[in-house]
Amino acid sequence: MTQDLASIKEFHWLIDMIQNLDVGLVVIDRELRVQVWNTFMENHSGCSPTDIIGNKLLDFCRDIPADWFKRKVESVFLLNHRAFTTWEQRPYLFKFKNYRPITGIAEFMYQDVTLIPLTSADGEVKQVGILVYDVTDMAMNKRELQSVNHSLESLSRTDHLTQLNNRGYWEEQMQAEFARFQRSKRPSTLVMFDIDHFKQVNDNYGHQAGDEVIRITAQQLTECKRNTDIAGRYGGEEFVVILDDTTAKSSMIFAERLRKKIEALIIEHECETIKFTISLGLAEFDPLMNDYHQAIEYADQALYKAKQTGRNRSVIYDLE
Ligand code: GH3
Ligand code: MG
Ligand code: MG
Repeated sequence: MTQDLASIKEFHWLIDMIQNLDVGLVVIDRELRVQVWNTFMENHSGCSPTDIIGNKLLDFCRDIPADWFKRKVESVFLLNHRAFTTWEQRPYLFKFKNYRPITGIAEFMYQDVTLIPLTSADGEVKQVGILVYDVTDMAMNKRELQSVNHSLESLSRTDHLTQLNNRGYWEEQMQAEFARFQRSKRPSTLVMFDIDHFKQVNDNYGHQAGDEVIRITAQQLTECKRNTDIAGRYGGEEFVVILDDTTAKSSMIFAERLRKKIEALIIEHECETIKFTISLGLAEFDPLMNDYHQAIEYADQALYKAKQTGRNRSVIYDLE
């Protein structure tokens, strides 16, 4: 008698504990009918145990992908071992609203879920317990950290004034692009250009106007190039762009288009109008080049020649 009383007491204590857990607990049978639906589940779903118990879980929770869930549960029944899903694999199993004040930005509750086989006295798995952990705080912290890291990374690659790739990152890209050329032998051309008599812009209109000219030049470059072309600010008023899959001859069309576009520009800066030009040097990647530095050197030499022969022009480096 006392033994019975003790076990009833223990049973009540157990039920109490399950109800007050800050974790969702659902028990289902092999047909996926709900046997236990604790207070956590009731509070977050708005669905009471009296409504759901005895019914099929998937009829009530239509957001759960049925095929995936059935397979997952079946494997727990068959193999008698636990299964897990984390919020990173699947943000949630039960679509609950997020009410946490600190992580109010999350639309829904992120969940880690464990499926536990519940064995009967004869050792057979008759039911599966589903534990649902609210991991919204952790998920949000991690997401935020990832987004900060992402911004930092892109900040460290970007030139502040022009929003182009900075020299360091551009060179990394250039190295990769040259290695790609050595493997595939598909042509690519490096275009390097420099603003003509830029010192005079600074001297005549001031450093701020000079900055504006640099910014607008970068903008023209971005508008002229294709998405796959990799542009960068190489120095003060020196720019570079790798034209992917393009011979020097075809690149000349791009170079001249950019040159003429800039020549035609009229920049208004504090009631002054500024006009300027650029000179360009082109070097097609060549199998005889030892490394990417050589392509930069040749483009620079072609640019030097453009300056020497009158500026406001494009020159292709002649390998012969
Ligand atoms: P050239 O036609 O031979 O290229 O003549 P240049 O006057 O452009 O000569 P150079 O390339 O030597 O001059 C570059 C000048 O650009 C020198 C430097 O003061 C200025 N400069 C470099 N970076 C910046 C910048 O970020 N903003 C401004 N406003 N000026 C810069
Ligand atoms: Mg210059
Ligand atoms: Mg220069």
